[in-house]
Formats: sequence, structure tokens, C-alpha cells
Amino acid sequence: MPLVNGFDLIEIIKERHVVAGAFNTTNLETTIGILNAVEKSGIPAFIQIAPTNIPVSGYGYIADMVERYAKTMDTPVALHLDHGKDFDSVRQAARAGFTSVMTDNAHYDYEENIQHTREAVEFAKGYGIPVEAELGAIAGKEDDNVVEGEGKTNPDQVLDFVSRTGVDMLAVAVGNVHGLNLDPNIDFPLLRKIQEICPVPLVLHGASGIPDEQIAQMVDNGVIKINVASDLRTAFITSAGKSYEEDPDRFDLVNVCLDAEKAVEDVVYHKIQVMNQLSPVKVH
Ligand SMILES: [Zn+2]
Repeated sequence: MPLVNGFDLIEIIKERHVVAGAFNTTNLETTIGILNAVEKSGIPAFIQIAPTNIPVSGYGYIADMVERYAKTMDTPVALHLDHGKDFDSVRQAARAGFTSVMTDNAHYDYEENIQHTREAVEFAKGYGIPVEAELGAIAGKEDDNVVEGEGKTNPDQVLDFVSRTGVDMLAVAVGNVHGLNLDPNIDFPLLRKIQEICPVPLVLHGASGIPDEQIAQMVDNGVIKINVASDLRTAFITSAGKSYEEDPDRFDLVNVCLDAEKAVEDVVYHKIQVMNQLSPVKVH
């Protein structure tokens, strides 16, 4: 089917009471690995890319290849911009045909975050696509951006932030961290408090290092989208590295690529299963 609009995907996710994985791609092989796993699972998903990974091919090629592959699938997929840290990245993604975007202004102070987020929401309305924003700083290493300290989402700001910005999904900082080197520990009381207050669905970033049993609880805590990036990159790089280690003289690039693609697919499939194992609606 064609790429699904993010608004429609959110409705499908809520209706089916599942959690959508949001898997970060960089290139063709990662894209195919992710989408193969999504199709095998039958669970709707976001495939996404952050501007940090755009230099490999640009927004246009990413949109083209995801859209082309999605057309061969029966499972709904939306293409999402992850961590658009400036207005230009949101604009470029929308123009290229992305069906959902994140505007990330968490590095600004509260009022500036609202102002920049509002601007992206107004812009996205013209394209008819939903906007995710972040409140609170998710610690850890996100590509080359290092966020230090623990700036959890303040529940007292949630309602004000959502109503003044008009965002459609809210990324929260509840002990989740970006990258693999920190020890995430989900603050479930805080997550539940935010869920009670927040009028829009929640998004969890930094799921790579979070234990499976905590991930499995997200579906019942108002989370509809869980971002996974580091684990996929590690799978890809480890697979390629192993190929070289096994035979430094090899020249069959095709098998190196196919192995890396399969390594990504296996991790994504496992994550989707973990995210949805407590779901009361079994989809297949
Ligand atoms: Zn993130």
C-alpha cells in the first residue's frame, strides 16, 4: 500500500491497541531489513530518519525508497522525520513526502520550545501531517549530540505545552536515554502521571537499552510509538565487521549487504514482538 499518513497510522495503532515501533534507517539495506520485519509482524510501524543520517543520500532518496518498498507491503507504514532540530529539516522532510515529523526544540528553554514547536505545527498543517515534539531532555548520546544530566518531563507543564503548541504526539523523558552506554530505568509512576494528564499519545525514545519487560508495559501506559535506533545500527555494523573479520579478502559485497540486512531484520522483529506481547489484541 502507499505510505500511510501519520494521523491515520495513529488511529490504526490506537484502534488495534498495539505499539508501533519507530525504527531508524540510514540506507537501503537498513530500510529493507526494517520493512521486512514490519511486514512479517503485521504490526503498523513508523520508519524514520534523523537529519544526522540524511547526508548519506538526502531526504528525496529516503522517501522514494521507503515509498517504493511500502507499496509491496500490506502492513501500514508511515515515514517520519526523527529529531528535526531546526525548521529547515521539517520543511525538507515534508517536501520530500514524509508523512509525519518530529520537531525537536527540547534544547531551548520552555517558552522558546513552545514557540518553535508551534511554528512547526502550523507549517505541518499545510501538509496534513502530524507533529511530534519533545518535552524534557532525553539524556544520552543521540548520534553526535550529547545531552547530559537528567531533565525528566515535568508533568505540570504537559497540558500547557500540548494545548499551546497543538502537537499530535509527545515524546517524554521518563528515565529513557539515547544510545547504549547509559543505564535506562523507566520511572513508571511519572509515566502514568503524564499519561493521565496528556491529551495526545506518548512517544518513548531511546528504547535500545531498555529491558524487554519494561518495553512490554508501554502499551498500557499511553505510549503508541517507541523509537529504536542504536540496536539496529549495532546489528548492521557488527554484521559487516564480522564479514570482514572472517575473510579480509572477500569481495562479495552482495552477501555482506544481505547479511547486514538480515541482522537488522532480526532485531526489528524481536523488538516488535517485545513491544506487543502484553497487548490484549493479538494481531496474528
Ligand atoms: Zn530520540
